Amino acid sequence: MSTQYASRQKQRIIIFDTTLRDGEQSPGASLSITEKLEIARQLAKLGVDIIEAGFPVSSPAQFEATKLVAEQVAGPTIAGLARANEKDIESAGKAVAPAKKKRIHTFIATSPIHMKYKLKKTSDEVLKMAVEAVTYAKTFTDDVEFSPEDACRSEMSFLIEVLTAVTEAGATTLNIPDTVGYILPYEYGRMIARLKAEVPGIDNCIISTHCHNDLGMAVANSLAGVRNGARQVECTVNGLGERAGNAALEEIVMAIQTRADFFGKGTENELTTNINTKEIHRTSQLVSRLTGFVVQPNKAIVGVNAFAHEAGVHVDGVLKERSTYEIMMPETIGLSGSRMVLGRHTGRHGFTNRCKKLGYKLTEEELERTYQRFLQVADKKKEVFDEDVAAIIDDEVRMVEHTFELEYMRVLIETGESPTAIIKIKSKEGIKEAQAEGDGPVDAAYEAIRVATGYSPKLESYSIRAITSGKEALGETTVKIRSDGRTFAGRGISTDIIEASAKAYVDAINRMVARKDAGEEPQIKAEL
Ligand SMILES: [Zn+2]
Repeated sequence: MSTQYASRQKQRIIIFDTTLRDGEQSPGASLSITEKLEIARQLAKLGVDIIEAGFPVSSPAQFEATKLVAEQVAGPTIAGLARANEKDIESAGKAVAPAKKKRIHTFIATSPIHMKYKLKKTSDEVLKMAVEAVTYAKTFTDDVEFSPEDACRSEMSFLIEVLTAVTEAGATTLNIPDTVGYILPYEYGRMIARLKAEVPGIDNCIISTHCHNDLGMAVANSLAGVRNGARQVECTVNGLGERAGNAALEEIVMAIQTRADFFGKGTENELTTNINTKEIHRTSQLVSRLTGFVVQPNKAIVGVNAFAHEAGVHVDGVLKERSTYEIMMPETIGLSGSRMVLGRHTGRHGFTNRCKKLGYKLTEEELERTYQRFLQVADKKKEVFDEDVAAIIDDEVRMVEHTFELEYMRVLIETGESPTAIIKIKSKEGIKEAQAEGDGPVDAAYEAIRVATGYSPKLESYSIRAITSGKEALGETTVKIRSDGRTFAGRGISTDIIEASAKAYVDAINRMVARKDAGEEPQIKAEL
């Protein structure tokens, strides 16, 4: 009985989400503590098995965020990252302590190039540090994961030696990171198979993948690992992560589900995940909004064009028989086939119900605020879709403290004249008005905001998109600003694109100020 359970358990692919750690390390993706909590709650709803909530030693804010997730998010195991030293492990151990299920994930580089140039240590020293780290981590929790950083460029014999030693020391998960995104699927699969065959005691551990996408192979490599015995996949929502990113969670999950035939369907080796795929779309949108990382339209699974049906490409074949062009149903990832529409006659009750249906839990005060905003939008826009409601909620129930608020704006455009913007910004100090000219209306508004707030961060990127179709669609502007070597994203929505643009800029400045007030130093990076 118990062995049967164990063998069934082994066929479950454990989804280890590192959006909040590896994903958040993407330059400009930084999230506030409350935003992390919001994403963690959604990840729990999505059904991920493990949430890597942060790298606690790297800053007080990272520690706090990890601890808060451990305290407040039920369901998944909460993991904290730590380099192979006591200070890091202690910090991670303390941060995840409140969680019901907790894991410490410790790592050290094992490749010749990393050991020599980064760590300046011999392989014997590295081996000793790895064992000591796992042994110490075990004093905080039984659940200890070890990663030999840059495993794919490490010498196989040394890798086997290290993994054998940490397994003896009590590591329960062995993660094999392709830190620099260098390996190809065939090689990675072969590597996992070899480790599985040659590391004594590895069958008592879970083998894990952690693949970067520098050559566009992250998902393919992870699946090659799975095919060869890995039972945990580390991944991020929308493939967020350092450089070209990490393996995309939604692609891993949908590949395993859609190609169940390849992954042992109908046999005792059938592979499954615990993911509620209907939450995929919502999770993707939330992460995109809060990080300011727009999802490319042709992105697999979650891009707006990913489903022919959704993109409005009603090819004759799709109309006659969906499976002619669609290998997945849009409903599977939570895109509803028929979209419900709200309008200006929707009462408070109807609006509240829709918010609940969309999965939002709002306080009375938040509900009131979002309802008022909804009425404003419904006044301008006849049909309000689910996506609009979600955007309004995310915009109104903002996660960052508003140091500045856009109180009023007016932009004058006259033929032959430079556009002029008049802006009123509200803050603790009262209302400050500023007027400025610019090359265009947005430029003028931004200049006036700089004068009124007293901050002049460099604008790094600016993008705008319509949330839903139609000429009165809500426009969403995403900006990134740069100050003191760090990037902050901001977002604003409105039926008026100049207003949306101004809101996004003020939002980004608020995030910048919030971070400055917290006095947070730039993080130590964990390039795993
Ligand atoms: Zn990584």
